[in-house]
Amino acid sequence: MPSPTFYFNSLVKSAIDYPPYYSIFVTLPKCIFRCDYCYSKDIVEDKTGIRFTINDIIDYISKANRKFRIIQAIVVSGGEPLLYQNDLIEFFEVLKIKFPYLKLRIDTTLALNIDKRLYDYLDGIAVTIKPISIYKDFRVLKNNLSAFPEFEFSEIRLTIHKNNYEEVFETFLNVKDLISENSKIRIIPAVFLGKNHHFGSFDYFTSEDEIGDILNEFKYLFEDFELIVDFENVKKNKQIAFLQSLF
Ligand code: SF4
Repeated sequence: MPSPTFYFNSLVKSAIDYPPYYSIFVTLPKCIFRCDYCYSKDIVEDKTGIRFTINDIIDYISKANRKFRIIQAIVVSGGEPLLYQNDLIEFFEVLKIKFPYLKLRIDTTLALNIDKRLYDYLDGIAVTIKPISIYKDFRVLKNNLSAFPEFEFSEIRLTIHKNNYEEVFETFLNVKDLISENSKIRIIPAVFLGKNHHFGSFDYFTSEDEIGDILNEFKYLFEDFELIVDFENVKKNKQIAFLQSLF
């Protein structure tokens, strides 16, 4: 049985997290990092007070899919899902038996040694690359990426702001040769939620040109890959900066 500490602390229906499938996005509490820009502070510190068990999730999918297969995928994020690998394997086993059509994905930093059995259950994985100096043992990320199988959905994410992008790109350069050319690379400008919402302060991007200039400078890093940039986050930052300037 999963350990008593294995519970989810969010459950959100989503049409965008595992395209083209309609999915549920669940988060697990706690993380090994404390990124300054983190927007899941309550999840990382396990302060949401919300508890969903495996049975809650299974009931939820069963009810939603009673007439039609509305929910076709589940995305397990965090925090860091790799903190719960044994429990996750058990959870995925149950899901595959009950809902064989369901696509399974995790969002992770891959900064903990992965139990390779997890790969057997997954259809998708999104890996967030961090500034190289914050890894306890950078070889773990390299080893995990070396054994990375092909997935239906495979995305490498680089969350950047003005203070960290050079170091994040340095990490990427160090693992670039281990990343399949079928992986999408997603550049995510860190979203600024407001003072006291993050673990630390950072200078965020508020213009598409700033991002464009940086990507132009580092284009040799990404030329072998499909590159996606989340300019929506830049627009959000711009709006927040404008609103704050009014007060
Ligand atoms: S790895 Fe993700 S969840 Fe963990 S602290 Fe960083 S941004 Fe937050």
